Amino acid sequence: MKFDYPLKTIDDYESITGSEALNRIRMKAKPLEKRNVVHVNSTYYGGGVAEILSVLTLLMNSLGIKTEWRLIQGSPDFFGITKKMHNALQGRPNEINEMEKRIYESTIYENSVRKKLDHDFVVIHDPQPLPLIHYFEKKGPWIWRCHIDLSSPNRTVWQYLKPYICYYDAMIVSIREFRKKIHVPQRLFMPAIDPFSLKNRPLSEEEIKKQLENHGIPTDLPLIVQISRFDRWKDPLGVIKAFKQARKQVDATLVLLGNAAMDDPEGEQVFESLLMHRQERIIIISHENSLLVNALQRKAAVVLQKSIREGFGLTVSEALWKGTPVIGGRVGGIRYQIRDGENGFLVSSIRDAADRIVLLLKDEALRSQMSKRGREIVQDQFLMSRLVEQYLDLFNSFETVFRIKK
Ligand code: UDP
Repeated sequence: MKFDYPLKTIDDYESITGSEALNRIRMKAKPLEKRNVVHVNSTYYGGGVAEILSVLTLLMNSLGIKTEWRLIQGSPDFFGITKKMHNALQGRPNEINEMEKRIYESTIYENSVRKKLDHDFVVIHDPQPLPLIHYFEKKGPWIWRCHIDLSSPNRTVWQYLKPYICYYDAMIVSIREFRKKIHVPQRLFMPAIDPFSLKNRPLSEEEIKKQLENHGIPTDLPLIVQISRFDRWKDPLGVIKAFKQARKQVDATLVLLGNAAMDDPEGEQVFESLLMHRQERIIIISHENSLLVNALQRKAAVVLQKSIREGFGLTVSEALWKGTPVIGGRVGGIRYQIRDGENGFLVSSIRDAADRIVLLLKDEALRSQMSKRGREIVQDQFLMSRLVEQYLDLFNSFETVFRIKK
């Protein structure tokens, strides 16, 4: 039977990256044809990991590498504990008590009973499924891909997780500041965006207008936008404060759009804590809608990503790709996407963020200069074809070590 649903394929990228890059990618995929790979994480939606896996797995399949995507299941208790772990790895002084460790470990053990992971390559994302490696006989390399900002983790939580990580054959982090002293080879892969997704594809003025109207977003004043899971690390309150300060000098509307992720139980609480700040010019929306994300990132005069900690921050590249300057927290992967003063600004305080909002809103010429530069930087560095190639290089580097049967 023939299906008329066009799948994402690596060939789509030829129009952007050129044929030389594509041929190189196809060549690197050849030795891996018919190999099977599985990615395991803890949510199908909400957050950057799901965003990346939804396209990466299809592109890998289009290259002839059988690539699956599996989820671990867990109760709200489990995800409460793993969120605490996530917060601790990003530097909060949370401790995980013995009871919590038991719930974490037993949930992963239960998951191992339900799963068959006998692939040539197993890629485990983030700490939630990390202990799975304990319960399987390795058929090939197991890789731990950590998307979190590991620059200053809570020591006890790190020490608790480290023995699991040591079983892995490689660890991937986003930037060099997140590398750890550990006897596991470490690779640096920065995340990347899919320019053809609903979220990033071109939109007509008409489509943008429709999306904004449907959500009651006024366009009579310039839009300042932050799009993020409702998470304290993304500093939504700092964004509201910066906006209020900036508004003493320039007129604008702030839109905070957020969504929830299955593995982040704190979202609702953070969302509710923001609601008291709603006003005519401060719009706070909790809604899962990729076209709305796209429309807002395009229509915004300035996008903010004022994180306090950030693994990478895909929203920065998404906005830059659409030609919108970004003001981002001077942390984690944001510093690798924003070139201060070229395609946006890096800030370390609410005051800085407010000043930069004022500067950008007053200077249209600067915005348009940054717009061009932003898109170029994403085209050069942050498109999914680059990430695909890095995975291929990594998998190929194991071929000799593991001598996987051809
Ligand atoms: N996102 C979304 N809707 C929202 C908020 C976020 O689709 O209301 C998407 C956003 O566009 C990006 C991803 O979720 O693709 C967030 O990834 P990022 O790396 O910025 O942060 P994470 O949530 O992984 O910490």
